Amino acid sequence: MKKVIIIGAGPAGLSCAYQLSKENFEVIVFEASNNIGGMSRSFQLWGQIVDLGPHRFFSKQPDVNRFFNELIKEDFTLVNRQTRIFYNGKYFQYPLKIGNVLKNLSFITIFQILWDYFIKIVFPLKNTKNLEEWISNRFGKKLYTIFFKHYSEKLWGIKCTQIDADWAAQRIKTLSLAQAVISAFLSNKGNKHKTLVDQFAYPNNGTGTLYERAAEAIKKQNSNIHFNSKIKRVLLDESNKIALGVELLNGDIIESDYVISTMPLTSLLKGFNNTPKKVIDSINTLYFRNTILVYLEIDKENLFSDNWLYIHSPDVKLGRITNFRNWCPSLNKGKSSTIIALEYWCFESDTIWSEKDKNIIEMAVKELHIIDLLDKNVTPINSKIIRVPNCYPVYETGYQQNLDIVIKHLKKIENLLPIGRYGSFKYNNQDHSILMGLLAAKKITNNDTIDLWSVNTDTEYQEDAKVKDVLIY
Ligand SMILES: Cc1cc2nc3c(=O)[nH]c(=O)nc-3n(C[C@H](O)[C@H](O)[C@H](O)COP(=O)(O)OP(=O)(O)OC[C@H]3O[C@@H](n4cnc5c(N)ncnc54)[C@H](O)[C@@H]3O)c2cc1C
Repeated sequence: MKKVIIIGAGPAGLSCAYQLSKENFEVIVFEASNNIGGMSRSFQLWGQIVDLGPHRFFSKQPDVNRFFNELIKEDFTLVNRQTRIFYNGKYFQYPLKIGNVLKNLSFITIFQILWDYFIKIVFPLKNTKNLEEWISNRFGKKLYTIFFKHYSEKLWGIKCTQIDADWAAQRIKTLSLAQAVISAFLSNKGNKHKTLVDQFAYPNNGTGTLYERAAEAIKKQNSNIHFNSKIKRVLLDESNKIALGVELLNGDIIESDYVISTMPLTSLLKGFNNTPKKVIDSINTLYFRNTILVYLEIDKENLFSDNWLYIHSPDVKLGRITNFRNWCPSLNKGKSSTIIALEYWCFESDTIWSEKDKNIIEMAVKELHIIDLLDKNVTPINSKIIRVPNCYPVYETGYQQNLDIVIKHLKKIENLLPIGRYGSFKYNNQDHSILMGLLAAKKITNNDTIDLWSVNTDTEYQEDAKVKDVLIY
């Protein structure tokens, strides 16, 4: 029986463990925290259930949907997506609805949008290197400024001209203004771009239910998950071509035939001995953005009707707000209060990351007052801060060349498979991480030649299907 060590009990690690434990493998998962589900975990808060910000699950990939169906069965709600963009004191429906856009923008602005769009159709840039060029080329400069610039700069903490065009290419690859507008006119008709789907399946007890159930299934197959077991490093043989096993933080060494790593790619590389300088220099250029989540319980049932709101306004630091009350009724367990989560993005070196919780909460409430989402006389009845490190791999221009050097080095280690969001430095959603986990299992069981690094470099490579088609079985 071959032994596989999996680092991390998030979507990537658990989907891989789930698949392998069905086959004849001995699987041991080591998880640094005492949580199941990584960034996609759900947890109880003030008698209700919440996630780490919004967690919409959507995939067009049959294997990923099979994983969801096998574990969740019918225990999900099809949620009608409602999300809006708050900008310049106005709410814009997202995906865009033409009537709403026309109502919210002045005639001059609409003319500027159409003019800029026309200019880019007639004189497109041949080679778009950064986010600003890529989006302006597709939507025109004015639309880019209103709907992309401020939000992207809050999220990434760098200028859009410093963000690699790859990010947009991964996320909104085939979406054009024409498609967005057609979609705005023909809402609910036909198949939509992935960015625009307006319904999604959500497990009744939170997105993390999927991973809690995967963990239960794994344990039934005699595989093990060890919590509070941080992996310090992956051990390689002298040739640096074979992974021998792992070393835990407490010094224990566990040997294995394969290692699947979902720990941050940067930490994985830095744990190796004798890594060539060129590879070390490349890994040192890769970095992550962190999130601070501010959970507030408000003694009110109807705060706003969206699942989440994007806050584009540059006058507040706040980037996004999730209203868990609007996901599915089972989350709030009959309580009449509303839990919201506000997202603030920062680097580890920013003062806000180490700021006292009390000060961050005060700022969050003040910002809700500024954008008029909370009456000035209303104060939250409960508050809590959760800091999520390393959650966004930053696609700074040129990152891909450095990542390629790291990938080339890692590909020489045949029995070590780095997968997952920070594990492979890819801006993965749950579905991408699950797909990587399932494919890693396939690679081991069938000795497949699948290139795991290619998952999520092309979002629309997956077979086209509607959300209802893939979920009803
Ligand atoms: C605010 C926010 C909103 C999001 N919204 C969505 C959404 O709407 N839809 C969607 O599909 N996705 C969303 N995501 C992304 C989703 O959370 C991730 O894609 C998914 O959780 C990635 O899974 P993973 O297994 O690759 O990594 P993770 O979930 O990060 O899991 C990695 C695990 O490895 C563990 N670990 C790390 N280092 C070590 C170590 N040294 N030793 C042992 N264990 C270790 C961690 O503790 C963690 O449990 C969102 C993420 C965030 C932060």
